[in-house]
Amino acid sequence: MNPFSYARPAAIDEAISLFRPDSRYIAGGTNLLDLMKENVTRPAQLIDITQLPMSDIEETADGGLRIGALVSNSDLAWHPRVQQHYPLLSQAILAGASPQLRNMATTGGNLLQRTRCYYFYDSATPCNKREPGSGCPARDGLNRIHAILGHSEACIAVHPSDMCVALAALEAVVIVQGPQGERRIAFADFHRLPDETPERDNTLAEGELVTAVELPAQGFSAHCSYLKLRDRASYAFALVSVAAALELDGDTIRSARIAMGGVAHKPWRKHEAEALLIGKAPDEPAFTAAADALLEGASGFEHNAFKIELSRRAIVRALTDAAKGAAR
Ligand code: SF4
Repeated sequence: MNPFSYARPAAIDEAISLFRPDSRYIAGGTNLLDLMKENVTRPAQLIDITQLPMSDIEETADGGLRIGALVSNSDLAWHPRVQQHYPLLSQAILAGASPQLRNMATTGGNLLQRTRCYYFYDSATPCNKREPGSGCPARDGLNRIHAILGHSEACIAVHPSDMCVALAALEAVVIVQGPQGERRIAFADFHRLPDETPERDNTLAEGELVTAVELPAQGFSAHCSYLKLRDRASYAFALVSVAAALELDGDTIRSARIAMGGVAHKPWRKHEAEALLIGKAPDEPAFTAAADALLEGASGFEHNAFKIELSRRAIVRALTDAAKGAAR
Protein backbone atom coordinates (compact mmCIF):
# COMPACT_ATOMS: atom_id res chain seq x y z
CA MET A 1 0.00 0.00 0.00
CA ASN A 2 1.27 3.49 -0.84
CA PRO A 3 1.69 6.19 1.84
CA PHE A 4 -1.15 8.71 2.06
CA SER A 5 -2.16 11.67 4.19
CA TYR A 6 -5.37 11.68 6.21
CA ALA A 7 -7.85 14.42 7.04
CA ARG A 8 -11.09 14.29 9.02
CA PRO A 9 -13.11 17.46 8.37
CA ALA A 10 -16.23 18.34 10.38
CA ALA A 11 -18.11 20.23 7.67
CA ILE A 12 -19.13 19.37 4.12
CA ASP A 13 -17.64 22.58 2.66
CA GLU A 14 -14.35 21.85 4.39
CA ALA A 15 -14.23 18.32 2.99
CA ILE A 16 -14.84 19.59 -0.54
CA SER A 17 -12.20 22.33 -0.20
CA LEU A 18 -9.62 19.71 0.86
CA PHE A 19 -10.22 17.58 -2.24
CA ARG A 20 -7.40 17.33 -4.82
CA PRO A 21 -7.29 15.17 -7.97
CA ASP A 22 -5.41 12.43 -6.09
CA SER A 23 -7.78 12.46 -3.05
CA ARG A 24 -10.50 9.97 -2.20
CA TYR A 25 -13.38 10.41 0.23
CA ILE A 26 -13.68 7.49 2.65
CA ALA A 27 -16.54 6.42 4.94
CA GLY A 28 -17.09 2.70 5.67
CA GLY A 29 -14.15 1.78 3.47
CA THR A 30 -15.60 -1.65 2.63
CA ASN A 31 -14.51 -1.37 -1.01
CA LEU A 32 -11.90 1.41 -1.03
CA LEU A 33 -9.57 -0.31 1.45
CA ASP A 34 -9.59 -3.49 -0.68
CA LEU A 35 -8.78 -1.40 -3.74
CA MET A 36 -5.89 0.25 -1.90
CA LYS A 37 -4.52 -3.03 -0.57
CA GLU A 38 -4.57 -4.48 -4.10
CA ASN A 39 -2.85 -1.37 -5.52
CA VAL A 40 -5.82 -0.72 -7.80
CA THR A 41 -6.31 2.73 -6.26
CA ARG A 42 -3.41 4.75 -4.84
CA PRO A 43 -4.79 7.96 -3.30
CA ALA A 44 -2.31 10.49 -1.93
CA GLN A 45 -4.93 11.76 0.52
CA LEU A 46 -7.89 10.16 2.27
CA ILE A 47 -10.64 12.53 3.38
CA ASP A 48 -12.59 10.79 6.14
CA ILE A 49 -16.21 11.98 5.84
CA THR A 50 -17.62 10.07 8.81
CA GLN A 51 -17.93 13.22 10.95
CA LEU A 52 -20.06 15.07 8.40
CA PRO A 53 -23.78 15.65 9.15
CA MET A 54 -25.14 13.11 6.66
CA SER A 55 -26.53 10.34 8.90
CA ASP A 56 -30.24 11.14 9.07
CA ILE A 57 -33.27 9.56 7.45
CA GLU A 58 -36.04 12.16 7.10
CA GLU A 59 -39.41 12.35 5.40
CA THR A 60 -39.57 14.95 2.64
CA ALA A 61 -42.35 17.50 2.17
CA ASP A 62 -43.82 15.52 -0.75
CA GLY A 63 -44.08 12.28 1.23
CA GLY A 64 -40.78 10.79 0.08
CA LEU A 65 -37.66 9.96 2.09
CA ARG A 66 -34.26 11.66 2.26
CA ILE A 67 -31.48 9.25 3.21
CA GLY A 68 -28.17 10.73 4.36
CA ALA A 69 -25.12 9.38 2.53
CA LEU A 70 -23.62 8.07 5.78
CA VAL A 71 -26.65 5.97 6.79
CA SER A 72 -25.38 2.39 7.01
CA ASN A 73 -26.88 -0.28 4.80
CA SER A 74 -28.14 -2.08 7.96
CA ASP A 75 -29.82 0.99 9.43
CA LEU A 76 -31.46 1.72 6.09
CA ALA A 77 -32.69 -1.83 5.49
CA TRP A 78 -34.23 -2.09 8.98
CA HIS A 79 -35.62 1.45 9.21
CA PRO A 80 -39.38 1.17 9.94
CA ARG A 81 -40.34 3.63 7.21
CA VAL A 82 -38.24 1.73 4.65
CA GLN A 83 -39.62 -1.65 5.72
CA GLN A 84 -43.17 -0.36 5.56
CA HIS A 85 -43.10 1.88 2.52
CA TYR A 86 -40.09 0.74 0.46
CA PRO A 87 -39.82 -3.03 1.05
CA LEU A 88 -38.17 -3.42 -2.36
CA LEU A 89 -35.20 -1.39 -1.10
CA SER A 90 -35.02 -3.29 2.15
CA GLN A 91 -35.09 -6.66 0.35
CA ALA A 92 -32.35 -5.60 -2.07
CA ILE A 93 -30.02 -4.36 0.67
CA LEU A 94 -30.48 -7.51 2.77
CA ALA A 95 -29.69 -9.66 -0.30
CA GLY A 96 -26.21 -8.14 -0.45
CA ALA A 97 -22.93 -8.70 1.40
CA SER A 98 -22.94 -9.92 5.04
CA PRO A 99 -24.33 -8.41 8.28
CA GLN A 100 -20.84 -7.18 9.23
CA LEU A 101 -20.32 -5.47 5.87
CA ARG A 102 -23.82 -3.96 5.92
CA ASN A 103 -23.06 -2.47 9.33
CA MET A 104 -20.01 -0.65 7.92
CA ALA A 105 -21.10 0.11 4.34
CA THR A 106 -22.87 3.41 3.73
CA THR A 107 -25.58 4.55 1.34
CA GLY A 108 -23.20 6.85 -0.57
CA GLY A 109 -20.48 4.22 -0.68
CA ASN A 110 -22.87 1.61 -2.04
CA LEU A 111 -23.47 3.82 -5.07
CA LEU A 112 -19.74 4.26 -5.59
CA GLN A 113 -18.53 0.68 -5.17
CA ARG A 114 -16.53 -0.56 -8.13
CA THR A 115 -16.91 -3.62 -10.32
CA ARG A 116 -15.79 -7.02 -9.05
CA CYS A 117 -14.25 -8.00 -12.43
CA TYR A 118 -11.35 -10.32 -11.50
CA TYR A 119 -8.93 -8.55 -13.86
CA PHE A 120 -9.71 -5.11 -12.43
CA TYR A 121 -8.42 -6.29 -9.02
CA ASP A 122 -5.32 -8.00 -10.44
CA SER A 123 -2.76 -5.28 -11.09
CA ALA A 124 -0.54 -7.83 -12.90
CA THR A 125 -3.04 -7.90 -15.82
CA PRO A 126 -4.12 -5.17 -18.25
CA CYS A 127 -7.49 -3.54 -17.65
CA ASN A 128 -8.97 -0.52 -19.41
CA LYS A 129 -10.89 0.48 -16.30
CA ARG A 130 -7.76 0.50 -14.12
CA GLU A 131 -5.23 1.57 -16.80
CA PRO A 132 -7.05 3.21 -19.73
CA GLY A 133 -5.80 1.92 -23.08
CA SER A 134 -4.19 -1.24 -21.69
CA GLY A 135 -6.86 -3.68 -22.94
CA CYS A 136 -9.70 -5.84 -21.66
CA PRO A 137 -8.63 -9.44 -20.94
CA ALA A 138 -12.15 -10.32 -19.78
CA ARG A 139 -13.49 -10.30 -23.35
CA ASP A 140 -11.56 -13.48 -24.21
CA GLY A 141 -10.90 -14.62 -20.65
CA LEU A 142 -13.03 -15.55 -17.66
CA ASN A 143 -16.27 -13.67 -18.17
CA ARG A 144 -18.94 -15.64 -16.28
CA ILE A 145 -19.87 -12.62 -14.13
CA HIS A 146 -19.74 -10.05 -16.92
CA ALA A 147 -22.22 -7.96 -18.91
CA ILE A 148 -24.76 -9.04 -21.51
CA LEU A 149 -26.19 -5.55 -22.07
CA GLY A 150 -24.62 -2.16 -22.75
CA HIS A 151 -21.04 -3.43 -22.91
CA SER A 152 -18.42 -1.90 -25.17
CA GLU A 153 -15.22 -2.97 -26.92
CA ALA A 154 -13.33 -1.34 -24.06
CA CYS A 155 -15.09 -2.98 -21.08
CA ILE A 156 -17.68 -5.66 -20.29
CA ALA A 157 -17.80 -5.18 -16.50
CA VAL A 158 -21.00 -4.98 -14.42
CA HIS A 159 -21.98 -2.80 -11.48
CA PRO A 160 -22.07 -5.02 -8.38
CA SER A 161 -24.67 -3.32 -6.17
CA ASP A 162 -28.02 -4.80 -5.12
CA MET A 163 -29.20 -1.61 -3.44
CA CYS A 164 -28.71 0.41 -6.62
CA VAL A 165 -30.99 -1.93 -8.59
CA ALA A 166 -33.84 -1.13 -6.21
CA LEU A 167 -32.99 2.60 -6.24
CA ALA A 168 -33.13 2.54 -10.05
CA ALA A 169 -36.57 0.90 -9.98
CA LEU A 170 -37.81 3.41 -7.39
CA GLU A 171 -36.44 6.34 -9.45
CA ALA A 172 -34.38 7.79 -6.61
CA VAL A 173 -32.51 11.08 -6.93
CA VAL A 174 -28.85 11.45 -5.89
CA ILE A 175 -27.95 14.70 -4.13
CA VAL A 176 -24.33 15.77 -4.56
CA GLN A 177 -22.34 18.76 -3.41
CA GLY A 178 -19.14 19.98 -5.01
CA PRO A 179 -16.98 23.01 -5.74
CA GLN A 180 -19.81 24.40 -7.95
CA GLY A 181 -22.52 23.87 -5.29
CA GLU A 182 -25.32 21.32 -4.96
CA ARG A 183 -27.02 19.44 -7.76
CA ARG A 184 -29.59 16.65 -8.08
CA ILE A 185 -28.97 13.71 -10.41
CA ALA A 186 -31.73 11.35 -11.52
CA PHE A 187 -30.66 7.82 -10.60
CA ALA A 188 -30.75 6.71 -14.24
CA ASP A 189 -28.15 9.38 -15.03
CA PHE A 190 -25.83 8.70 -12.10
CA HIS A 191 -24.07 5.53 -13.31
CA ARG A 192 -22.84 5.32 -16.89
CA LEU A 193 -22.16 2.72 -19.56
CA PRO A 194 -18.48 2.02 -20.27
CA ASP A 195 -18.30 3.23 -23.92
CA GLU A 196 -14.69 4.30 -24.59
CA THR A 197 -14.05 5.56 -21.05
CA PRO A 198 -14.68 2.65 -18.66
CA GLU A 199 -12.44 4.28 -16.04
CA ARG A 200 -15.45 6.51 -15.25
CA ASP A 201 -18.19 4.62 -13.39
CA ASN A 202 -20.51 7.58 -12.85
CA THR A 203 -21.23 11.19 -13.75
CA LEU A 204 -19.76 12.82 -10.63
CA ALA A 205 -17.46 15.77 -11.35
CA GLU A 206 -14.09 15.98 -9.61
CA GLY A 207 -14.47 16.68 -5.90
CA GLU A 208 -18.23 16.14 -5.81
CA LEU A 209 -19.50 14.34 -2.73
CA VAL A 210 -22.70 12.31 -2.52
CA THR A 211 -24.57 13.82 0.44
CA ALA A 212 -27.98 12.09 0.25
CA VAL A 213 -30.36 9.97 -1.77
CA GLU A 214 -34.04 10.92 -2.07
CA LEU A 215 -36.88 8.52 -2.71
CA PRO A 216 -40.17 9.71 -4.23
CA ALA A 217 -43.41 9.02 -2.36
CA GLN A 218 -44.39 6.10 -4.64
CA GLY A 219 -42.83 3.07 -2.94
CA PHE A 220 -44.74 0.23 -4.68
CA SER A 221 -45.09 -1.27 -1.21
CA ALA A 222 -48.07 -3.52 -2.08
CA HIS A 223 -46.53 -5.27 -5.08
CA CYS A 224 -42.76 -5.59 -5.35
CA SER A 225 -40.07 -8.24 -5.37
CA TYR A 226 -36.27 -8.37 -5.43
CA LEU A 227 -34.93 -11.60 -6.91
CA LYS A 228 -31.20 -12.30 -6.74
CA LEU A 229 -29.64 -15.32 -8.46
CA ARG A 230 -26.03 -16.17 -7.57
CA ASP A 231 -23.56 -19.03 -7.45
CA ARG A 232 -24.07 -19.64 -3.71
CA ALA A 233 -26.89 -18.89 -1.32
CA SER A 234 -25.34 -15.92 0.51
CA TYR A 235 -22.43 -13.48 0.52
CA ALA A 236 -22.03 -13.49 -3.26
CA PHE A 237 -22.60 -10.94 -5.97
CA ALA A 238 -25.53 -11.40 -8.34
CA LEU A 239 -25.20 -13.28 -11.60
CA VAL A 240 -28.55 -11.72 -12.34
CA SER A 241 -30.91 -9.75 -10.12
CA VAL A 242 -34.31 -8.16 -10.76
CA ALA A 243 -36.16 -5.42 -8.90
CA ALA A 244 -39.79 -5.64 -9.98
CA ALA A 245 -42.56 -3.29 -8.85
CA LEU A 246 -46.18 -3.09 -9.95
CA GLU A 247 -49.11 -0.83 -9.25
CA LEU A 248 -52.33 -2.78 -9.78
CA ASP A 249 -55.86 -1.57 -10.32
CA GLY A 250 -57.86 -4.72 -9.65
CA ASP A 251 -56.53 -7.18 -12.21
CA THR A 252 -54.96 -4.53 -14.43
CA ILE A 253 -51.42 -3.16 -14.30
CA ARG A 254 -51.49 0.61 -13.85
CA SER A 255 -47.69 1.11 -13.72
CA ALA A 256 -44.60 -1.08 -13.67
CA ARG A 257 -40.89 -0.84 -12.98
CA ILE A 258 -38.25 -3.44 -13.82
CA ALA A 259 -34.54 -2.91 -13.08
CA MET A 260 -31.81 -5.49 -13.47
CA GLY A 261 -28.47 -6.00 -11.76
CA GLY A 262 -25.49 -8.15 -12.71
CA VAL A 263 -26.06 -7.63 -16.43
CA ALA A 264 -24.61 -4.22 -17.28
CA HIS A 265 -22.25 -1.44 -16.19
CA LYS A 266 -25.24 0.22 -14.49
CA PRO A 267 -28.65 -0.93 -13.23
CA TRP A 268 -30.54 -1.75 -16.43
CA ARG A 269 -33.98 -0.35 -17.20
CA LYS A 270 -35.93 0.15 -20.39
CA HIS A 271 -39.09 2.24 -20.32
CA GLU A 272 -40.47 0.55 -23.47
CA ALA A 273 -40.47 -2.82 -21.67
CA GLU A 274 -42.36 -1.37 -18.70
CA ALA A 275 -44.84 0.41 -20.98
CA LEU A 276 -45.79 -2.95 -22.53
CA LEU A 277 -47.30 -3.96 -19.18
CA ILE A 278 -49.61 -0.96 -18.75
CA GLY A 279 -53.26 -1.95 -19.05
CA LYS A 280 -52.46 -5.67 -19.17
CA ALA A 281 -53.41 -8.41 -16.75
CA PRO A 282 -50.47 -9.47 -14.52
CA ASP A 283 -49.90 -12.83 -16.20
CA GLU A 284 -47.07 -14.81 -17.73
CA PRO A 285 -47.63 -13.78 -21.38
CA ALA A 286 -47.44 -10.10 -20.43
CA PHE A 287 -44.37 -10.62 -18.22
CA THR A 288 -42.61 -12.65 -20.94
CA ALA A 289 -43.22 -9.91 -23.51
CA ALA A 290 -41.77 -7.33 -21.11
CA ALA A 291 -38.74 -9.56 -20.45
CA ASP A 292 -38.11 -9.99 -24.17
CA ALA A 293 -38.27 -6.22 -24.66
CA LEU A 294 -35.96 -5.54 -21.73
CA LEU A 295 -33.40 -8.02 -23.03
CA GLU A 296 -33.55 -6.92 -26.66
CA GLY A 297 -30.01 -6.68 -28.03
CA ALA A 298 -28.45 -8.75 -25.24
CA SER A 299 -25.27 -10.57 -26.22
CA GLY A 300 -23.00 -12.75 -24.14
CA PHE A 301 -19.44 -14.04 -24.22
CA GLU A 302 -17.92 -17.52 -23.90
CA HIS A 303 -18.86 -18.08 -20.24
CA ASN A 304 -21.87 -15.85 -19.63
CA ALA A 305 -24.29 -16.33 -22.54
CA PHE A 306 -26.44 -18.39 -20.15
CA LYS A 307 -27.34 -15.13 -18.40
CA ILE A 308 -29.67 -14.13 -21.24
CA GLU A 309 -32.14 -16.98 -20.67
CA LEU A 310 -31.54 -16.79 -16.91
CA SER A 311 -32.48 -13.10 -17.03
CA ARG A 312 -35.64 -13.76 -19.01
CA ARG A 313 -36.82 -16.35 -16.48
CA ALA A 314 -35.79 -14.16 -13.54
CA ILE A 315 -37.78 -11.19 -14.85
CA VAL A 316 -40.92 -13.31 -15.28
CA ARG A 317 -40.51 -14.82 -11.81
CA ALA A 318 -39.86 -11.48 -10.09
CA LEU A 319 -42.89 -9.90 -11.76
CA THR A 320 -45.02 -12.92 -10.84
CA ASP A 321 -43.88 -12.65 -7.21
CA ALA A 322 -44.53 -8.88 -7.22
CA ALA A 323 -48.07 -9.42 -8.52
CA LYS A 324 -48.76 -11.76 -5.60
CA GLY A 325 -47.78 -9.05 -3.11
CA ALA A 326 -44.66 -7.76 -1.37
CA ALA A 327 -42.81 -10.08 0.99
CA ARG A 328 -41.89 -8.38 4.28
FE1 SF4 B 1 -11.11 -4.18 -16.95
FE2 SF4 B 1 -13.66 -3.83 -17.67
FE3 SF4 B 1 -12.18 -5.53 -19.01
FE4 SF4 B 1 -12.83 -6.09 -16.48
S1 SF4 B 1 -14.24 -5.94 -18.17
S2 SF4 B 1 -10.81 -6.33 -17.47
S3 SF4 B 1 -12.91 -4.03 -15.59
S4 SF4 B 1 -11.84 -3.32 -18.86
